[in-house]
Amino acid sequence: MKRKSSCVVAGGAGFVGSNLCEALLANGLHVICIDNFRTGRMDNLRALKREPRFTFFEADIIEALPTSLRRQRGIDWVFNLACAASPPHYQADPEHTLLTSVMGTRNLLAFAEQVRARFLLASTSEIYGDPQTHPQVESYWGYVNPTGPRACYDEGKRAAETLVFDYGRAQRGEVRVARIFNTYGPRMRADDGRVVSNVVTQALAGDDITIYGSGRQTRSFCYVGDLVAGLIRLMAYDGNYSGAVNLGNPVEMTIHELVGKVLRLTSSESRVVRRPLPVDDPQRRCPDISLARRLLNWAPQVKLEEGLRRTIAYFAEEAANAASFPIGNPAGTSTRRLTRRSSARLSKMKDTSIPQMERTFINP
Ligand code: UDP
Repeated sequence: MKRKSSCVVAGGAGFVGSNLCEALLANGLHVICIDNFRTGRMDNLRALKREPRFTFFEADIIEALPTSLRRQRGIDWVFNLACAASPPHYQADPEHTLLTSVMGTRNLLAFAEQVRARFLLASTSEIYGDPQTHPQVESYWGYVNPTGPRACYDEGKRAAETLVFDYGRAQRGEVRVARIFNTYGPRMRADDGRVVSNVVTQALAGDDITIYGSGRQTRSFCYVGDLVAGLIRLMAYDGNYSGAVNLGNPVEMTIHELVGKVLRLTSSESRVVRRPLPVDDPQRRCPDISLARRLLNWAPQVKLEEGLRRTIAYFAEEAANAASFPIGNPAGTSTRRLTRRSSARLSKMKDTSIPQMERTFINP
């Protein structure tokens, strides 16, 4: 990889963002991180704060960027990962979600233009909506409900892509767009309401496992380390292709199958309960990653079982740290062996989640 001197990561305190900052620092870059802590966490930056090549600005990209940031020079790359990304979190303040994608992307694009940096937008498989084409290729335009509860995120990212490609067409800067499919791994929030974090924390705490709808809907789960490697390769890509690139794991499975794997890996005795399927919940989702393979020589390396083991260990350790005592071999730990305190802590980590009533449901 060609070394770059400095880069900006907006949303760098988040789940994917903090893993990206860490990888960029490990690659020898200087990293300037921006986050407003709406869903990002200072805790995610704990190890990075000691690093002399790491700078942090608390700022919301919807607003004018901090003057001291705008004065920075020698920036080669600007990554925009700033946006709430789990359905309950992005639906909690839909106006802010939409504006983060539109205004925030516009502010960062203008900044990248000014400092002549290459710009990468973290877009999403949500721009395909509830897809009618399977697996999803980049040329598919999507099937999105523009007025539903997911629209603030889906349409926001679609508009952000439009802005990015307009900047590119007008030769106002070099642009890259990654369409990120479901991603999981360490630093996910316990309360983000996503299926992996929900099911793992429920299994560890011995709580009921919630399956929305029939559980026959599918997703494809990419380990965060693989995704971050793909993002860096896409940013570093110097070829002629100028469109969006899917980044995700092409191994498709039902939610039911995912739950079965987590139950096995945690030796959990949790019961499975059914909950209504959220409105516009996509029925099938799986990336076609031929383009990423061809352009970037990239494909996910971490098998789901291994990635889940690491994720389970992460959540078990979080719970144990919060309760101030170790619980030992977390990934292989039976929920019966989790003490009541750490189990209660896992439930409490989820108490801060977005209230269920703020979500819109339809019955399966
Ligand atoms: N889901 C579930 N139980 C949960 C959380 C989510 O069955 O506790 C389902 C959800 O309805 C969707 C899939 O799992 O079909 C993935 O949901 P997630 O929120 O992780 O991401 P999405 O792909 O929908 O953005």
